[in-house]
Amino acid sequence: MSSQDAGTVDGVEIRAAGDVARAAIVSVGSELLLGDLTDTNATWLSSQLRDIGVEVLHHVAVRDDTEEFVDVLHWLAERVEIIICGGGLGPTSDDRTREAVAAAAGVSVVHHDDLEEQILQRFAKMGRAMPPQNARQAGIPAGARPFAPVGTAPGFALTIASPGPVRVYALPGVPWELRELFHRDVAPEVQAIAGPRATVTRVVHVVGRGESDVAQVVEPLVADNDAVELSFLARSHEIQVRLTVSDRDPDKARAASEPLLAEVIEALGAAVAGIDEEQLEDVVLRLLGAADETVATAESATAGDIAGRLGAIPGASHGLLGGMVVYDTDVKHEVLGVDRALLDEHGPVSEAVTRELARLARERFGADWGIGVTGCAGPEPQNGQPVGTTFWALAHPDGHVEVHGRLMPGDRGQVIKRLGSAALDLLRRRLQER
Ligand code: ATP
Ligand code: MG
Repeated sequence: MSSQDAGTVDGVEIRAAGDVARAAIVSVGSELLLGDLTDTNATWLSSQLRDIGVEVLHHVAVRDDTEEFVDVLHWLAERVEIIICGGGLGPTSDDRTREAVAAAAGVSVVHHDDLEEQILQRFAKMGRAMPPQNARQAGIPAGARPFAPVGTAPGFALTIASPGPVRVYALPGVPWELRELFHRDVAPEVQAIAGPRATVTRVVHVVGRGESDVAQVVEPLVADNDAVELSFLARSHEIQVRLTVSDRDPDKARAASEPLLAEVIEALGAAVAGIDEEQLEDVVLRLLGAADETVATAESATAGDIAGRLGAIPGASHGLLGGMVVYDTDVKHEVLGVDRALLDEHGPVSEAVTRELARLARERFGADWGIGVTGCAGPEPQNGQPVGTTFWALAHPDGHVEVHGRLMPGDRGQVIKRLGSAALDLLRRRLQER
């Protein structure tokens, strides 16, 4: 951050050592460390801060313990310019944020009559009398700027000069309250400290290739590019290649991401299943719509998940005709019409039966394309077949059927997701090849 746009709050200049303002998020509450609560507040705050160009260096969870909390604040104060605390502002004795932030700054907690009045009014609005212990929530560190409550807990901002300087924000832990106060009272000030800066993240969705394989292709492209941060996110059914560019000039950040994105897409070729918001299912439906064609499914192992994933997208009716869940072996014969002898000879989880599922799905529904899937998703092996045995088939508009098979890694949920993605990705590739 250059000195001319360093933020000055409470008469103290808050400025980053480097070019980018750095922040830490402290989530307060013993539940977080006991494994009873997932810290979704920190994730949400990180994404908000990234969008306004602030770099988040640390997520810390602390117990309801004033001394440990103060230690963490002091440690962070030497490393970042902005600390956002979530939680610990409730009315009970285990809510330590007011005391800890005050102690870290070397000031006392001061009762604000106007805050107590606001809390009283919040309770009156809910038709309740304020329990006496809630008066504690009207106490904030001396010198802090109070945030009027949107629930019952007020928040506050305080600058700690030494160690620091660091601007500390305290928000209630209840997620909707934290979000409202962040938008109203924190974001504008943090934006001023950070100066104009935009961070743009472009996402390339890759299906059907492993993470290291994808990294090998992409890493050389960004090796000499300091402006771009490259990261990979492996999810059960796809690899996300994420390109993050940030710049003082938001237009420049956006423009800088374009040529690199194009290079990555080019290098990954047919493995690119979607870009940014557009994921595999969206691409399949877009391509079907453009070709004025339809698909139908006959699903065993995925039990409707493929049709469901397509159906979740607005406008799916233009491409998805329907689907059948043919889970039980007898149902495959009696309802869909798979030949009994074929089922007996090959078993339900087989290339031959999966081929028939795709062919019959296309035929029965009168669709242009038919998808069939079978598999053993686990946790127990089935008919001597190991967990992860999967087959997927695609019946083409000309009637021919292709079948693929693979041993999918992962637990039951992952096998189901991966199998569905393999089938959808096959259709996506065939539609794109034409
Ligand atoms: P308030 O002052 O609004 O009463 P608080 O500041 O005391 O709340 P906590 O008591 O720590 O906050 O948490 C209140 C509730 O908010 C919790 O029961 C939990 O459901 C939710 N919550 C708290 N912290 C988090 C977090 N880090 N991520 C997700 N949810 C959270
Ligand atoms: Mg609490």
